[in-house]
Amino acid sequence: MDILTLAAGLHDQLVVWRRDFHMHPELGLEEHRSAGIVAEVLRGLGYRVQTGVAKTGVVGLLENGPGPVVMSRVDMDALPIQEANDVPYVSQNPGRMHACGHDAHMAIGLGVATLMAQHRDAWRGTLKLIFQPGEEGMNGADIMVKEGVLENPRPDKMLAIHVWNKNSVGAFGVTAGPVMAGAESWYATITGKGGHGAMPEQTVDPIVVAALIVNALQTVVSRNVSALDTAVVTVGALLSGDAFNVIPDSAELRGTIRTFNLETRDIVLRRVREIVEGTARMMGAEAAIGLYPLTPPLINDANVTALVRDVVTDLFGADALKSDVRTMGSEDCAFFLQEIPGCFIFIGSGFADREAPAHHNAHFDIDEKALVNGVAVVAEALRRLMPGDSNR
Ligand SMILES: [Zn+2]
Ligand SMILES: [Zn+2]
Repeated sequence: MDILTLAAGLHDQLVVWRRDFHMHPELGLEEHRSAGIVAEVLRGLGYRVQTGVAKTGVVGLLENGPGPVVMSRVDMDALPIQEANDVPYVSQNPGRMHACGHDAHMAIGLGVATLMAQHRDAWRGTLKLIFQPGEEGMNGADIMVKEGVLENPRPDKMLAIHVWNKNSVGAFGVTAGPVMAGAESWYATITGKGGHGAMPEQTVDPIVVAALIVNALQTVVSRNVSALDTAVVTVGALLSGDAFNVIPDSAELRGTIRTFNLETRDIVLRRVREIVEGTARMMGAEAAIGLYPLTPPLINDANVTALVRDVVTDLFGADALKSDVRTMGSEDCAFFLQEIPGCFIFIGSGFADREAPAHHNAHFDIDEKALVNGVAVVAEALRRLMPGDSNR
């Protein structure tokens, strides 16, 4: 099948789907309308459909003879943002917006579902399409895995996509190895001893302790992590005190940690804990710290990534391929990719002629040519991962 022509033939339908999803954004684990449309389209195409996985997730299965089981995953949720765009397809739900592009992901997912169902002669095996809820900080992927979505049947390989405004439309970020960071949140309470602001000698000032901790934490990345490696330690909140003349009893710190591999992660977590607890002890205060994993690092399998790079080069030319797209952002697709070897593909979606708005911004929008590009690359990669006799 000539995948570029077939995908281009879906252009108008992809735009209709994407704009409909865009106008009706739903927050994570509440994607009832979106999931309903996805399930209806998949059923119409002949997929065996399971709904209600991780509350609002949808799984579509298309069995097409003996062969490998390959999974393709998209996410469905929007963000709690009031859209600031003046476009005909502006969000109709106040305070809700598809500001990360998951509306485009659903449209691309349905486009891929359409091509794979209409051209079953071009591949052999079982296609498992996963429409995941709650990606934005709700770990919908983790919930789906715990509910057994990777069993019956278990995929041999997987693909996933994200539209990406940092790259212009027509570019594809396909990078082997770690591409998105593992993320932790951490919370620390520093307990001192409050008192009069004029008599600090009678107190243990938790604000001073917290300030020392914030400074000392800056040495984790600069002194404990190799200069050839990457990590982030951020303090996002420092909460303490109310009055100008009162030394409070306690202070609270909240932050996040980002790393690309598990060894560095262990070093950073250990040092953050040591610095928080050790600094408090040095100053006569007490510290309690909780470190909570959010997502593991997202790591692309070398073989599947090589196959996707070939697909991009064959369809769009070598210039379209960007091999160094990485971000310290996190993505819960990592929960799938740590179980199933696969490739997370960044589909360039920035406007060619003007500056592209950032993801999670109230002005976020994409160049819709990314929809056809996404369908073409994913469908062709799926076909090559499930070659029938005719393709050998
Ligand atoms: Zn996002
Ligand atoms: Zn996203």
